[in-house]
Amino acid sequence: MNGATTSGELRAHNRARLLRAVHDCGAARTRSQLTRDLGLARGTASVLVAGLAADELLHEEPAREHGRGRPTQVPGPHPRGPLALAVDVREDAWELAACELGGRATTLAVRPHDGTPQDALGTLAEALAAERDRLGHRVVGAGVALAGPVRHGGLVDIAHLGWRSIDVPRLLGLPPAVPLSVGNDTAFAALAEVRRGRLRGVRVGLHLHVDFDPGGVLVVDGRPLGGAAGSGAEFGHMPLTGGDRPCPCGARGCWAMEVGANALLRHVGLAYGGGRGREQAARVLATSGEAVAANARALGRGIAALVNAHDPEAVTLSGLGAELRERAGEELWAACEPYLMAIRREAPPRVEGSALGWRGALLGAMESVFDAFLTPHGLAGWRQNQPDQGRDTPDQQNVMYSTSKAENAP
Ligand SMILES: [Zn+2]
Repeated sequence: MNGATTSGELRAHNRARLLRAVHDCGAARTRSQLTRDLGLARGTASVLVAGLAADELLHEEPAREHGRGRPTQVPGPHPRGPLALAVDVREDAWELAACELGGRATTLAVRPHDGTPQDALGTLAEALAAERDRLGHRVVGAGVALAGPVRHGGLVDIAHLGWRSIDVPRLLGLPPAVPLSVGNDTAFAALAEVRRGRLRGVRVGLHLHVDFDPGGVLVVDGRPLGGAAGSGAEFGHMPLTGGDRPCPCGARGCWAMEVGANALLRHVGLAYGGGRGREQAARVLATSGEAVAANARALGRGIAALVNAHDPEAVTLSGLGAELRERAGEELWAACEPYLMAIRREAPPRVEGSALGWRGALLGAMESVFDAFLTPHGLAGWRQNQPDQGRDTPDQQNVMYSTSKAENAP
């Protein structure tokens, strides 16, 4: 099954499986639980853990609660272990975090930008280079989420900011030793929801992330469907609500014109567009029931169209989408239900807020880095790069856990 034929290959395969299991459970399961989960012999697990600890990939701590006898051990991230640099580039600011095995994210920097690729990505390139110098070989990759379609692994368009075919890898200029994964924010948020949120174990799900405008992606068997060039599922640019307004993307009547912070601002007559007005939109969300209801209705009607098309088991909403559902859930459902096909209405999918709040895009960027690293090939690279010592650990200025117990817990 796994293609491992020699004992060395089998060991490399089991090392990757064990680290993967530690990462996926949020470093919350004991060694004996993991041994059972993975069907390993106890002796094999001991040897694997000892080897991974010697390579500074794992570190064991006694479980916080245990019965009598020897405390049971919980494998977790090594204090000098691998780190994924994860970035969420929004239209008005970016956030950079260092993420450990198990999914703990430590915010390193948050910086506003003026909406141009030069300012947004130029300052980010400097920050990434500085962190790479500081953290050295511990950095095993960088994942960058962006608020627009991403083609061919790095060409980004953000229509309402005027970005057209921006070559993100070129502008970030990372050395080849730091693999870069560039992706759409919604696709990354969906990946995080699959791994650590409410799409876990869901075969066909739909994830919608709403910020200035909505994005969506279909998730099948744990994978967001990317399209041929990687920019599929631009649900925000479908005429789902029957409007006719021209959209900056070049089409007309897009759903993006009716849902999100831009639509909230427009509803109350405030200036909108260009990735500006986040604070004003938050005020509208808090104070204008009418604008919120209109937004929620448009969201609900679009969800009905997407549910008719895709038959998902669950629809999860992140960003502003979760807040709209929270504040105007009844309006949302009242606008959704009549547009569902009768066969869908009989057994509609659950529509839920994300378990990860606004953190999904950042955490999904992290997952994309660890997906490449937690393989026999990725781990072999770690051993080769090992020797340099005395590197820093991330500043503990803003530590958060990437499980559903984190911020915005429902
Ligand atoms: Zn559009």
